[in-house]
Amino acid sequence: MTYTIKDGCTACDSCRPACPRQAIQLNPDAEGYWIDPTLCDGCPDLEIPACVTACDLDQLHFLPAKKGRSKSTLLPAAIPDIFLNGKTNPFASSLVMWETCNLLTQRQGLPWQTDSEGRLCYRRPVQRGLGELRFRLAPDPTAVEVMPPSESLAALGEFELRAACVHLIFSAYAVTQETPWKTSFTLTSQHFEQYLGLEKRKDLTKLEKLTLIKDLVYQTCRFRVAINWPRQGRVQGFSLAEHAVWQLMDTQYYFEQDREGHDHLIGLSFVVQAGDWAQKFLNKQRYRQQTAFYQYSTLPRSLLLESMSSWQQHEGAVRLLLWLLFKLRLGGDQRMTVRKLLRIAYGDARVVEATTVRGAHKRLLKTFENDLEALYSYGLIPLFDPDTYPVEIQPFWARVAEIPEDAEAALDFWTEDAQQSQSLTTSAPRDKWQRLLNARILSFELPEDWQQTLRQPSKRRRKRAAANQRGATLSGDDIKAARQQQSLSQRALAQRLGKSQSWIRDVEKGRFKVNLNDQALLQQVLAVTLG
Ligand code: SF4
Ligand code: SF4
Repeated sequence: MTYTIKDGCTACDSCRPACPRQAIQLNPDAEGYWIDPTLCDGCPDLEIPACVTACDLDQLHFLPAKKGRSKSTLLPAAIPDIFLNGKTNPFASSLVMWETCNLLTQRQGLPWQTDSEGRLCYRRPVQRGLGELRFRLAPDPTAVEVMPPSESLAALGEFELRAACVHLIFSAYAVTQETPWKTSFTLTSQHFEQYLGLEKRKDLTKLEKLTLIKDLVYQTCRFRVAINWPRQGRVQGFSLAEHAVWQLMDTQYYFEQDREGHDHLIGLSFVVQAGDWAQKFLNKQRYRQQTAFYQYSTLPRSLLLESMSSWQQHEGAVRLLLWLLFKLRLGGDQRMTVRKLLRIAYGDARVVEATTVRGAHKRLLKTFENDLEALYSYGLIPLFDPDTYPVEIQPFWARVAEIPEDAEAALDFWTEDAQQSQSLTTSAPRDKWQRLLNARILSFELPEDWQQTLRQPSKRRRKRAAANQRGATLSGDDIKAARQQQSLSQRALAQRLGKSQSWIRDVEKGRFKVNLNDQALLQQVLAVTLG
């Protein structure tokens, strides 16, 4: 419910200071005042809104909801600049980008501290303390000063996890620029609706969507960072004074007038520019001269949609998803302990509580297993370490997921399961929580659009591997025959390979092509030599 100002307003300025949400603003283009509908909440706690009480001329009135569709011709064309293939887009993935994402997902959960100026800051050491990133919070996206500690913490409490998606969209736009630290980009509310899947949300009014988009953009643009970076390889050490991670240069409002003469907000646009960090971490030209970095990875669009739909029910899963996006960029060994995943998903304080307060671990364990299942449903399949994370302490859904769909195969599965010392239906051991803290996940099988996030081997290595492997691959039938020859069950082979049983099943059925590394591993474990 919002209010609006009639034409008879004499600009006496009585209502503006009375508004508790600073929604009444001086019109920059014409005389008089206007009410920002993304800020006005109609004063729900008052019988008569504060502005109505303050106006002697009765110039404020309730704005009825807009009827019918908005005229998109009144808005700038929203031609997508990213996700042009519909699936993925490169995004800036340097440490500054990760820590900003971390700040937006963990908010008050991070170890904020007071600095020498008495301001709240979050410090991230670089290279064992040789350098650091220092983040602080500005009171609004255009402010240069930072907030006092108590206000900073209160403001962080109002931030939303979904702002991390806006941050990733900005990171993807920054990669489309040749010199992102001095070239701005413009995003309209229609862009955000497309990228974030809001266009399909029938439960939100147009104004609610616009208010949400503006809030998320403004939260993302409030972080300021100072950088002290040590020498790394040929790149000399450097310091950058505090600057906005994302500079909000302009916000435009688009209105449409209805037959009764009421102006309704139908769109927004934002002009944003990457901060000075991009000179050092997203600088193509100087990267070629080896005097700066150019760090990027691949952002799957599905991650944004998943985060936008799961953030309320599975906040921990979304935090893990975003962490994995940056972690997997590094490729190589992806082993991770459950303790680490718990800290990422729920913060240190919650993990400490679960390990020290009697009974608290049960709630956390249940949440963790549910969040892991949410990742599984999205397509990130955890591969449990058979030594530290054996079947008996795995989540029940993971054990059930191993049951084949095919009736005959399912019968074999249950027959084999009954012969195991730990069957599927055996209840979890009493020391499950203690064992789980030291359990490891070897890696995650990735959805197709995530495959590109892994660092690709060099061209020469790919060529050599392809030459070695050409004509020498095991088919699904070969693998099944070799496995049966060795009297190995699918589960036993999966454990030896560090894969899931469903992976073996799919490979044997020829549902997907096995990559070169896994081919080599299969040949080694099954002791099969190909000519
Ligand atoms: S209704 Fe309340 S929130 Fe809206 S403009 Fe008036 S005083 Fe501000
Ligand atoms: S109090 Fe009434 S007349 Fe004065 S600025 Fe506000 S709306 Fe206009």
